[in-house]
Parts: sequence; structure tokens; C-alpha cells
Amino acid sequence: MLYSSTRNPDLRVTPEQALQAGLAPDGGLFVPNRLPAFDFRAISPEVSLPECASQVLAPFFAGSSLAEHLEAICRRALDLPLPITAMPEHGAAFMLELFHGPTAAFKDFAARFLAACLAALQGRERRPQTVLVATSGDTGAAVAAAFHDLPGFRVVILYPDGRVSARQAHQLGAFGGNVEALRVQGSFDDCQRLAKLALNDPGLVERHGLTTANSISIGRLLPQISYYALASTRLADRADTDAALLDVIVPTGNLGNALACILAREMGFPIGQVHLATNANRTLHDYFAGARYQGRDGLRTLANAMDVGDPSNFERLAWLYRDQDPRDAGIHAESVDDETIRARIRKEFDQSRRMICPHTACAMEVLDGLRKNGHDGPLLVAATAHPAKFEGVIEPILGQPVPLPPGLEELLARPATATPLAVDFEALRQAL
Ligand SMILES: *Cc1c(COP(=O)(O)O)cnc(C)c1O
Repeated sequence: MLYSSTRNPDLRVTPEQALQAGLAPDGGLFVPNRLPAFDFRAISPEVSLPECASQVLAPFFAGSSLAEHLEAICRRALDLPLPITAMPEHGAAFMLELFHGPTAAFKDFAARFLAACLAALQGRERRPQTVLVATSGDTGAAVAAAFHDLPGFRVVILYPDGRVSARQAHQLGAFGGNVEALRVQGSFDDCQRLAKLALNDPGLVERHGLTTANSISIGRLLPQISYYALASTRLADRADTDAALLDVIVPTGNLGNALACILAREMGFPIGQVHLATNANRTLHDYFAGARYQGRDGLRTLANAMDVGDPSNFERLAWLYRDQDPRDAGIHAESVDDETIRARIRKEFDQSRRMICPHTACAMEVLDGLRKNGHDGPLLVAATAHPAKFEGVIEPILGQPVPLPPGLEELLARPATATPLAVDFEALRQAL
């Protein structure tokens, strides 16, 4: 398999090159130059996620030096709990709980997979690398956890001081060892700008083996296909043969997780309509309602990991449906405002004692809307974070504490340190 750029179908790079580079040289995103087809009946519904992933992802790494390591990579990275829980109060509805990894958000799957791939590639070159990430919260923690204690790697996190939740800040500073947190005296955009300057500085790149693990890396997109493949295969196995296809609802910001679901469908997994649930950022809603695509600034909302006004993976969606209008492809988008998020968190708790994070609440609201409009087929909701990560939103609504999952509790009990950093490239150079 070779990869090209969303902006240049004639570009050809190997999987190794696409993984190492992150972004294509023309500024586009890497995409596989063909989408492998899959017969989902070839997969046993009983297999584990690592087994499913090594089958489903094999064609994407065919012919590369990673092919022989893929099974071990999947075993090491993707062996996380993946409950699919029934929600009978919503009819034939299920929740795919993607938040049981070390940092309690779905980004753990992808960050761990990318780390395992880069570690396997480094095995041959033995050159120490520094992974530099700018984060507004969840990504930095997932990347830090994935590379923590991995020989040959150092992680440097840039986050905006005072603009992440207290728990998120503690989490970022609590890893220690090969992970260093820098609290930047500026905004998330300042952090991103500093990281970009460093990654474009040949001297720094050479000296520290600088690389990144940002969310547009193809190494983060691909592993996310595997949990939709497995969940749809398992639920199709349970359903009667003449049951309707499974529709999936995905909380969406940069469109990475939802695009993985769409890719799983296009590869042949038994998935019907895909519903994108966004917060008050309406770019995708307006586009799927018929307007021209118009990226804009992100608005701050309660579902802050989805505060995106110009989703970077839209470019991959346009590539996937280059021969048709993506709006005729069985994809829908709904926007959910903060007030409705609060009401939904309250309603789910009152109805079934289920606590949900603000991102998952957007998807649950879409689920409720579909039922009200007469949808009575099977539905799957992707739950993207553990509610305990957003206690500042949830506890005032529910009037009670959100119990911490064990991994998060352990991390929060450790001391945390972060070094202050001015918004100044020279200061970052010194810190590196
Ligand atoms: C990152 C994130 C999202 C958005 O995922 P995308 O792949 O950017 O669409 C949703 N929910 C949570 C909890 C996240 O951390």
C-alpha cells in the first residue's frame, strides 16, 4: 500500500514515510491510494480488538517493514477494554465505551497505536526522538501516556497555562520521566504556533529528532477504524438477519473519529447512516444542510475537545467522496448547544443513572432526536470520554461527585510539575 496526499493523487510515499512525516509535503493530508474492501463475515464476532485490528489494518501496511510487526503493535496498543452496553430505555441502542484507556478518552487507542508504530520504526534506526505536541487538553495526555517510559523517546507538551481544566493540567504534569510539560503563557493557538516553528526548524529537528503526533497523522486515523469494525460485526451477529443496518452517532470535532467510522462502512462493515454530533460549532451542520463549506473560528463550549470551527479531516472526507457529493453519502450532522448538553446530562442521569461527558451528551441528544422522528432501527453511540474528566461541568448539573476511574485516580494522586514558558521561540529552543 502506498499513500498519496489529499492535494496530490500522484504523490506516492510508503507507510513508513507517511507515519514519520505526519503531514504531506504539499500541506495536504496523507490518504491510502486505495481503500481495501473487506468481507465482515470473515471476522469472528468473538475476536478481541487487537485481533480484529491486525486483520482489518493489514492491507494498509502491506509491503512495509511494519507488516511483520502489526500483530504485536495491535496487541501492545489496542488491548484496552471496549464495552458495548445496551441502553434499553432508548430502544435498540448501544453505547460503545471508548474511554477505558489510561487517560479516559478515546484518543488513547490512536495515540498508543502511533507510539507503537514509531517505536517499531525506530527499532531499525536507533535514533532518539522528541515528540513535540501542542494540546488543548486531551491529546497531550493521551500522547504522553502512550510514549511514557518508551525507550528512545522524549515527549514535550505545550499547553496554555490556565486554559485547561485543573484535572487536565494535573494529568499533563504528573507523568514525569521522559515526559515534560511546559505551561505556555498564552493561548492554544500560541502553543500550536510555537510547535510548528520548532518542527519547521531544520537545526532543531536534526538535533533532537523532533517529530509530532498530532491528530491528522494517518497513524492516528487508521486504528480508529478497528473499533467500529468490531462493534458493527458483533452487533450484526446479534441482530436478526432482516434487521436494519446499524446507524452510528459520533461526537465530532476535527472529524477524525467519525471519518474512521465512515471508512469502516466504505470498506464493507455493516454500518448504515453515520450521524455527526457537534457542539455549537455549526460548520459541519451548515454544510450538510446544504450550504457551501465555510471554515471559521472555533467557539468555546462545554464540550471543549470539539471546539473546532474548521475540522482538519474535512479534507479527507472530500477526498473519499471525490466522485460524488459527500451530502449524498449517508452522512448527517446535528449541532447541539450548551444548554441542551446540560439538559441531556441531567435527563440521562434521571432516566437511567448513567453519567455522560459533555461530548457524549451531544451524541445522546442526536439519538433522542432520531427516536422522536420515528427512527426505530439499531443505533450505536460512540462515548468518547469518561465523565470524571469533565467534573467541572457535570458535578454542578448533577449535584454529586463523579467517581474517578482507577487509572485517572492513580495519576491524579501523583505530584505534578510543569515549567512555565513565555510565548517566545528562543525560550522553547532553550527548553528543548
Ligand atoms: C478529541 C475529542 C473529540 C473529537 O474527536 P475528533 O476526532 O476530533 O472529531 C470528541 N470527544 C472527546 C472527549 C475528545 O477528546
